Amino acid sequence: MNKLADDCFNQVEDLMSTAEALAVLRERTVIVTQDRLESLPLSQGLGRILAKDVISGLDVPPHANSAVDGYALRHQDLSPDKPTDFAIQGRSAAGHPFEQPLEPGKAVRIFTGAVMPADADTVVMQEDVDIVDGKLTVPPGLKLGANRRHQGEDTKQGATVLAKGQRLRAQDLGLAASVGHGKLALYRRLRVGVFSTGDELAEPGTTLPMGAVYDANRQILLALITGLGAEVSDLGILPDRADRVQAGLDAAAKNHDLLLTSGGVSVGDEDHVRGAVEALGHLNFWRVAIKPGRPLALGQIGDAAFVGLPGNPVAAMVCFLRFARPLILGMAGAVDLDPVLYRVAADFDFEKKAGRREWLRARLDRQPDGTAPRAVLFRPQGSGIINSLVQTHGLVEIGEDVTEIRAGQAVDFMPFDEVAS
Ligand code: AMP
Ligand code: MG
Repeated sequence: MNKLADDCFNQVEDLMSTAEALAVLRERTVIVTQDRLESLPLSQGLGRILAKDVISGLDVPPHANSAVDGYALRHQDLSPDKPTDFAIQGRSAAGHPFEQPLEPGKAVRIFTGAVMPADADTVVMQEDVDIVDGKLTVPPGLKLGANRRHQGEDTKQGATVLAKGQRLRAQDLGLAASVGHGKLALYRRLRVGVFSTGDELAEPGTTLPMGAVYDANRQILLALITGLGAEVSDLGILPDRADRVQAGLDAAAKNHDLLLTSGGVSVGDEDHVRGAVEALGHLNFWRVAIKPGRPLALGQIGDAAFVGLPGNPVAAMVCFLRFARPLILGMAGAVDLDPVLYRVAADFDFEKKAGRREWLRARLDRQPDGTAPRAVLFRPQGSGIINSLVQTHGLVEIGEDVTEIRAGQAVDFMPFDEVAS
């Protein structure tokens, strides 16, 4: 298999901005899934990443055809200023073309999607004509080419309709089908393993011991990674014991491309992830100027990349969405890694320190007067408040230079729906 670049995630000493961190991350991200391509039917392609361009072997539509139910005729047979009568020569229905040449002064009954008869160039809608005793009368004023779809107006033969690196959506699968591809060449799935860390964590569904909390992060991360089309392993909870953390990571590194942990990466006595990753490979702390989120731990254990996320659930999810998500997509072969941010109006006043990027959880309220939707902050905004992720639509992202926001001002908004898949 392809190894990640050896200098992957090398130490960066200074406080980094989010943009710098993302740029370094992108520069050092290597596609690791090209060692095995899979040829799969379209029905199994959703969310997967194309390993080869999809090129059309034909024009779509393959023949000129009618956009409406009506009558196909020659435009030159129409009188410019009075109704014209036509005899009906035959019928062209979808899948049942009329195969003879169109005779002068005649029309062919035609239906939506049916092939245009040779020499017909225009279709009159059935609602616009009169039929008396089998004679068709067409009013004047029809434009040349009306209601006709051209051969190849959607896709031209030889066109690249989907590019390598595209993560397949429903409509992409439809386009691939329209050009006749029954199977697609896809990168294999990225294998991602997820651990939680901490002696205080208990499995939901079990009795909660005194002093414990239920493990929430693992469910968030497993679901987010599944949404990205990766193959995710639930590797459970690592206790706060150096030997157990090391053994767990060591074993998992052998059959995953990327390991993700949450918690245990501060410098407290019970934070054993750092020591374990350093003993097994390399670990670098990136001091990224962000809130929420503590240092992001990035490293390498054997052939597996490693990302240590903060323990607090909000910080874990925000750091995942902004940093681990593009890494996962990039390692898996995707080209489009960045979320689309939308401009919305703040419905709040806010002050912050300069020099760091902040993410606030907010609900979007549509405005009855049709002005831009307004972002309403959830309170409280603490990085342990899981409800702040749930009662909201996404994250307001506030740039490093901004120190104050006043209600009504435009802000960037990242909807959860945009990045959860
Ligand atoms: P740590 O980084 O390990 O010191 O954890 C920081 C905070 O996040 C502590 O309050 C932990 O209890 C909490 N935390 C860590 N991991 C999880 C988890 N998987 N689910 C819920 N809370 C967690
Ligand atoms: Mg901990």
